[in-house]
Amino acid sequence: MVKILRAVVAALALVLALQPAPVASQTVPTPESVLGSKVGADFYLATYDESMEYFRRLAAASDRVRLLEIGRTSGGLPWTIALISAADNLANLDRYREIALRLAHPEGLSEDEARALAEEGRAIVHIDGGLHATEVAHAQHTIQLAYDLVTGDADPEIRSILDNVILMLWPSINPDGQNMVVDWYRSNLGTPFEVAPMPWLYQKYVGHDNNRDGYMINMIESRAVTRVLRQWEPQILYNHHQTAPFPARIWIPPFAEPISEFVHPLMWRTVNLLGMSMAQALEERGQHGAVHMGHGFDNWYPGFMDHANNFHNVAAFLTETGLYRYATPHFYTLDDFPERSQELRPQSLYSSPWTGGWWRLGDAVDYMLTASVSVLDLAAKYKTDLLFNRYQAARDVIESFREGPPYAFFVPQKQRDPVAAVELLRRLAFNGVNVHQLDAAVAFEGQSYAAGTWVILMDQANANFVRQLFAVQDYPDLREFPEGPPDQPYDVAGWTLPYLMDIRVIEAAVPIPAALRASMSPVEGEARAWNDGAEDASVFDSVPGVGFDSNRTAAGIRPPAGRAVGSGSSLVVDPAQNNAFRALNRAWEQGGRVGFEVGSAGSGGRYVISGLASSDALVADLALQARRTQGRGSVIKQPRVGLYRPWAASMDEGWTRWVLERYEFDFSSLYNADVRAGDLLERFDVIIIADMGAARILEGYPKGSVPPRYAGGIGKEGVRALDRFVRRGGTLVTLNSSAMFAVDELHLPVENVIADKKRRDFFMSGSLVSMEVDTSHPVMSGMPERSKIFVHQSPVFTVKDGFEGSVLAKYPAQGSPLLSGYLIGEEHLKGYAAALDVQHGEGRVVLLGMRPQWRGQPFGNFRILFNAALYSREMAALTPANDDFWTPPEPSKEGEKEAEDEDR
Ligand SMILES: [Zn+2]
Repeated sequence: MVKILRAVVAALALVLALQPAPVASQTVPTPESVLGSKVGADFYLATYDESMEYFRRLAAASDRVRLLEIGRTSGGLPWTIALISAADNLANLDRYREIALRLAHPEGLSEDEARALAEEGRAIVHIDGGLHATEVAHAQHTIQLAYDLVTGDADPEIRSILDNVILMLWPSINPDGQNMVVDWYRSNLGTPFEVAPMPWLYQKYVGHDNNRDGYMINMIESRAVTRVLRQWEPQILYNHHQTAPFPARIWIPPFAEPISEFVHPLMWRTVNLLGMSMAQALEERGQHGAVHMGHGFDNWYPGFMDHANNFHNVAAFLTETGLYRYATPHFYTLDDFPERSQELRPQSLYSSPWTGGWWRLGDAVDYMLTASVSVLDLAAKYKTDLLFNRYQAARDVIESFREGPPYAFFVPQKQRDPVAAVELLRRLAFNGVNVHQLDAAVAFEGQSYAAGTWVILMDQANANFVRQLFAVQDYPDLREFPEGPPDQPYDVAGWTLPYLMDIRVIEAAVPIPAALRASMSPVEGEARAWNDGAEDASVFDSVPGVGFDSNRTAAGIRPPAGRAVGSGSSLVVDPAQNNAFRALNRAWEQGGRVGFEVGSAGSGGRYVISGLASSDALVADLALQARRTQGRGSVIKQPRVGLYRPWAASMDEGWTRWVLERYEFDFSSLYNADVRAGDLLERFDVIIIADMGAARILEGYPKGSVPPRYAGGIGKEGVRALDRFVRRGGTLVTLNSSAMFAVDELHLPVENVIADKKRRDFFMSGSLVSMEVDTSHPVMSGMPERSKIFVHQSPVFTVKDGFEGSVLAKYPAQGSPLLSGYLIGEEHLKGYAAALDVQHGEGRVVLLGMRPQWRGQPFGNFRILFNAALYSREMAALTPANDDFWTPPEPSKEGEKEAEDEDR
């Protein structure tokens, strides 16, 4: 409690320091008076900077608005949010925030005390201007929403909202993206390219995947949002989007099936109530076309920014409002509708079908305003219940983990990659999970645990978050009939973090005895104490080795100190540690040499760093577990690495770029014109193409759809250049789908055995599978022989006559390879290859039928990408022969029989 209070005081000091005293008599400015245009007007969008100018003017003129500086974005923009409520409430922010935190963390709080606090408190509601920047309306609606609330005295509904609710209004949760998209739109307004797609991602690295980062919080924006949420613990989180299932005008919860297993049911019920209330409010205003459920919007993947908070007992959800393009209006006729929607039949959850006509930015803004105000209205009416339910949910969660397993998770310090365990635990701590550490060695349930072992005690308010991330996923079979096509998850099916990150975690199946509890201590600085930090969000990302170092909670979670045994001036590092690659890249940067010790079956290759005056700093800073030697291995030149970057922007390219940057690889982006220019071997040793389809690479955006310099792909000219690059000795590394681009365009003797399978017979969506790996191959150095690998719509290979090269990984010949997620038709995988090193002329193409850097999550797979990035001709020459590793499986006896009822 003391810690919470200290946090409150510090945060309030920050709020107050930022706040110039408002002048009561000043007139509240309209958005138009500041922006020069009405919010939602045709062809007009405010940039983030302009929006902030309005918020500053609004805050200066009204005592109902406080601005809060919350950090900086990936692009370095200062980032501000607004707190909006009655002046009395804003004057007592510290007390209301304290109540919200206390109810969210109810240890030691009686039900009567909780009721009293719920009575006294105010509902805290997060509403944001969205993170998908091409969905433009939400970041405009926040401007109008602020104005409407601040000036809404005449409206009893607004007055009640101001009295009972503290709105945390995020003008945008992707400020960089808002500026980028508005600048792009303005540059094309009035030209034939007015509604052209933007040829780059609207977040520095990951674009649309900024809404897939909710638990991993790799992006600075995700961390900033998470930090503020854990700092204020709102009871409701409303995240706006703008991709309604056409012709519906807005999609609203309830969500589609399936939903996550480990969410307190009160969250779903509250979200459903809010959804129906929003739809009712829209109908009251004659805003037709709201639809619920269905349309693929399930709530299975916990990485959505909103959904990640359901596990923290926040009633969190999104809506999807209709969008044409940017601020350009569009007229729809019934002929534009899908046939089944043309009959305009009222349905239970689509009671007022939209009939077409004009759809303008202003319409989308108005729908969003109705929806947002309706959420605030409900929060005002039920604020005491919302606050008490927050207490009840947390109390129930704590109680449930006292009554049944898992009671705790033990995370030993000794791991194949000890830093990966720290990366995991710091993310949990940042997400508000308390982590303990054993003071002394203990034995428990037949296991011995060394002093320093981390322990996550599950009787804590955010335990569902841990449980959902650590559990093995078994995606439910939702087929309508047994032979029907499988239900497609909206996102991925499995993500079990200890598997993805290759971390050994032991679940406690029996209650933790008091004596054991007494022999552990909270990791220095508990999760909530960290929250009073006012640091720039960007500094969380600045410490190499492990992230989150300036987070005081997380900073307490440290890897075992780096250590190099033996003697000699060279350093041997096992690439089972991801930091080995930071070490290599730093060694090259500092003028040192890097060599390779070839591995053998059962013992993978090692990298050898030599030629540095001292390698002590590398060992210490990167917490390396290393060995000293006199040898240098086979010294290789630092490869010149190119990463292909299409104008039809690719999120996977962005994630690859982010992961390579984080591990300090020196590489350059390779655009279409660079590829077409040819002579690639003069400039690169290794070229990487992230997961993307052939059309994106070959054709890009069609001519006429974007300004000419962004149209087209690498074309046949680019293919010839890549082919020549490889034939002359270059290495082309292709991830997942792009592997089939290489196979087809470079005419490699390789086949994708599942290419023609019907979805009903074979389906493998975003899951973790077990593969057997040839650890003696340099690209698989550091991987275990049985590896847990993330796949997502991945090709599965066999080879044809004329194949020369090696198989790096294969699916097991016996049993199902599925570890977590969803797989139908395992027999189509058995014994087939998952990764190949294909000789092509003097060079080679590495085909990876997997997603080793997917969203920056599989820390246990990153090294496949890293090794591949170093797999130059020199390295390839070191590859030992291992012809025994793989023999092609017998083709399936079933042949190609197809039922008449084909998948639609
Ligand atoms: Zn969206």
